[in-house]
Amino acid sequence: MEDLQRIWAPCMACGLGASRGKMVFGEGAVPAPLFFIGEGPGANEDKTGRPFVGKAGQLLDKMIAAMGLRRDQVYIGNIVKCRPPNNRDPEMPEMLSCMPVLERQIELVQPKAIVTLGRIAAQALLSTTRPLGRLRGTWHDYRGVRLLPTYHPAYLLRNPSAKVKSWDDLQLVMAELGLTPGA
Ligand code: URA
Repeated sequence: MEDLQRIWAPCMACGLGASRGKMVFGEGAVPAPLFFIGEGPGANEDKTGRPFVGKAGQLLDKMIAAMGLRRDQVYIGNIVKCRPPNNRDPEMPEMLSCMPVLERQIELVQPKAIVTLGRIAAQALLSTTRPLGRLRGTWHDYRGVRLLPTYHPAYLLRNPSAKVKSWDDLQLVMAELGLTPGA
């Protein structure tokens, strides 16, 4: 994984390379039972070079703990590794040029399950335009790996009532992985 990171560190394959602060490659255990995938770095991540370290990241940490895991036992990454300016959605060419990195990360992490966070990550990996509301709550297949889409923690912060559905989703993952609830 370190080699992969070193190879891609100078990447300028799309326009996001020019405006990034730090590339947010991803971090966590390799191999890991679970791979969380968001859409792309925000301002805090761009500053620190680490995924999910802002408010949404704090909620993701709580979700991981509730599943009976620690953050350092899972792998956390994004569809695009560089911050889209003004937090806009990543564009298709940006996602496509970053996809080989994520594909290799998934091969290296060998997760039993992938959890995508939010619409963009689910649609990108499942090559679909179906709304997240239709995708979440059931298992999908990504190249032979079980993939479960759920809400993005930033969405859950804005819409706390959706946390119940998100917890339902995470319980499916826990059942798949044989986990018992944590803190
Ligand atoms: N949102 C994401 O999708 N990814 C991050 O790394 C941080 C916030």
